[in-house]
Amino acid sequence: MRIVFIGPPGAGKGTQSALLTELLDIPHLSTGDMLREAVAKETTVGRLAAEYMNSGRLVPDPFVVQIVGERLQQPDCERGCLFDGFPRTLGQARSLDEYLAAAGTPLDAVIELRVDEDQLVNRLLGRGRDDDSIDTIRQRFRDYTTMTAPLIDYYSSTGLLRTIDGSGTTNEVFKAIRKALGK
Ligand code: ADP
Repeated sequence: MRIVFIGPPGAGKGTQSALLTELLDIPHLSTGDMLREAVAKETTVGRLAAEYMNSGRLVPDPFVVQIVGERLQQPDCERGCLFDGFPRTLGQARSLDEYLAAAGTPLDAVIELRVDEDQLVNRLLGRGRDDDSIDTIRQRFRDYTTMTAPLIDYYSSTGLLRTIDGSGTTNEVFKAIRKALGK
């Protein structure tokens, strides 16, 4: 299966991605991880990406699309994969669709994990990390909403979108995801 996972910071995306990739036995493709690796290895893309990442901006689509395209050619992706943190823009979503359509392996589902803003604020404050103040959390939530709203519309128009209530326990949320995927 090929799955895109979308969710705001603190929604439990990391936990649910790990459970789901294990259940489906597919690789977990996190563009954040891939970009950090490219930066560490000082590849051409890595050097270009570093500037954007250090200032908290999105890395331009062509670099991200290239890095994902290279990863998708690895043999372990033949049985599917879970995309985490990608696509983040409409351009990336369209590129991904084109790539997968050409390969004859379209997306099977897009899972949106939805948790309301107040609950997220409480969860993130509970973690007690230094960068988790109320103001930065609210700002990140707004950025997320602005950034992903067009993607939600895009995927809902293709019929792939499955919106999951992420407010329950880890187990409850995972059950709901499995149900939505028929797994
Ligand atoms: P976070 O969850 O904190 O946003 P990520 O690990 O997903 O962290 O991403 C870290 C950084 O990598 C982002 O701030 C951005 O600069 C870059 N990045 C990751 N994924 C993408 C993407 N799909 N498009 C553009 N930039 C990305």
